[in-house]
Amino acid sequence: MEKYDVVIVGAGTAGCLAAKTVAKAGLDVLLIDRKQKQDIGRKICGDAVGQHHFDKLGLTYPKGDELERVMAGVRIYSPDLQSIFDVKGEGLKGFLLNRHAFGQRLLKEALDAGTQLKDQTQALEPIIEKGYVKGITAKNQKTETTAKFYAKITIEASGFPAIIRKKLPPEMGVPTEVENQDVEACYREIRELKDPIEDPEMCHIYLSQKHCPGGYYWIFPKGDSKVNVGLGVAMINKFPNPRETLYRHVLSKPIFKDSSLIEGGAWYVPTRRPLDNMVGNGIIIVGDAACQVNPIHGGGIGPSMMGGTLAGRTVIEALEKDDVGCDGLWGYNVKYMESYGLKQAGLDVFRAFLQETDDDELNYSMRLRLITEDDLLQTSLGKEVKLTITEKSVRVFRGIRKVSFLRKLRSTVALIKKAREWYGRYPDSPGDFEEWTQKTARLFNSEA
Ligand SMILES: Cc1cc2nc3c(=O)[nH]c(=O)nc-3n(C[C@H](O)[C@H](O)[C@H](O)COP(=O)(O)OP(=O)(O)OC[C@H]3O[C@@H](n4cnc5c(N)ncnc54)[C@H](O)[C@@H]3O)c2cc1C
Repeated sequence: MEKYDVVIVGAGTAGCLAAKTVAKAGLDVLLIDRKQKQDIGRKICGDAVGQHHFDKLGLTYPKGDELERVMAGVRIYSPDLQSIFDVKGEGLKGFLLNRHAFGQRLLKEALDAGTQLKDQTQALEPIIEKGYVKGITAKNQKTETTAKFYAKITIEASGFPAIIRKKLPPEMGVPTEVENQDVEACYREIRELKDPIEDPEMCHIYLSQKHCPGGYYWIFPKGDSKVNVGLGVAMINKFPNPRETLYRHVLSKPIFKDSSLIEGGAWYVPTRRPLDNMVGNGIIIVGDAACQVNPIHGGGIGPSMMGGTLAGRTVIEALEKDDVGCDGLWGYNVKYMESYGLKQAGLDVFRAFLQETDDDELNYSMRLRLITEDDLLQTSLGKEVKLTITEKSVRVFRGIRKVSFLRKLRSTVALIKKAREWYGRYPDSPGDFEEWTQKTARLFNSEA
């Protein structure tokens, strides 16, 4: 039987940051991953991350083989391709990563800080004793043997599969399921083009409810002629197959003629507000397993690194106070909600609105500039969403018999403000949580 201060399941961006943080404090940390050590960091991803996440966490910027390109901003295309928004500025500067090299760097930093790694080790379930998570059971994939790993605190960082979260008993108070409608099914490829791409410093995002319902497709330049191209669709009703859609509607474009495939793959991303509660007795949930992802663009590298770091700091405090129960870990919820959760909550309201918006409405909204590039920039920096609804817009929307769209847009903007304020009042202790979570459910249902 092995015993540690902390066991972390999953060596992705969330798990590595959590491991580095706790190991640096001299704690005895075990990090497990089902992948082989040299494959850790290989992740189906768009590979784009904002610089501001690194600034906030005091992390060194990607460099050398981790960095494929510096990005200046995002270019958003309306479904009819007639309106193009260039959203540039401090909040949108970022990096196109070599995801594998970046993941290996994060792993190295965790190991250098003193983390012990067991690779090719698959977590199976939590060990629950007297209402506390006491560690995990895991299978060594080389020897096919199963062992128990005990820990004072377990950190669930297994990403979308959320293997440990899904097996927590209800009395732990952590939501175990995420609804399909809150998940994007994605497919992406890395491709070498025949010719250099235009405006390679911009990440290109294409809105199209027709082809990517509830999502979008992207072309992110990685080198002069290397791109990350993919799409995501909301898993609502009978959603289209992302790979087929990419081949039919995106890779059929002239710029992909004679391009070659470097690698491709499908995966999922939860695009909603964070789980209402991300801690239980002896356990903290981080990263995709806790839905720490931007609900609009699906970016989770930054928030998962933040979640991992905050979880690590909370674990250190809890072990110092010798309080590893839900109360002792609660501060993690509060800190995450303050720093990123409230932004996610606001954007989750906007996501629900966008999912019900058709291509005509998107085309007119962008053409009439109901939301401008500057507003989008401010929103991406975490500020409130602003609307510019002029007399002319009202006339145009009335003309196409969609004036109700403007009413819905106005009420959505008001609801975004309300959701952000509400998350700013996340309860300081578990005692007030029940009331908060019930009111939260009402707030999000009221958007329907
Ligand atoms: C197609 C696509 C495009 C995306 N594009 C972007 C983007 O451009 N920018 C951005 O910021 N985000 C993007 N994301 C989201 C981003 O990739 C994730 O939010 C982020 O990687 C989450 O990190 P994580 O550490 O929580 O999970 P992961 O990175 O998934 O790490 C989880 C780790 O746990 C391990 N694991 C899983 N199950 C077990 C188990 N049972 N036992 C042991 N180990 C286990 C896995 O092997 C993995 O190493 C995208 C996602 C997808 C699917």
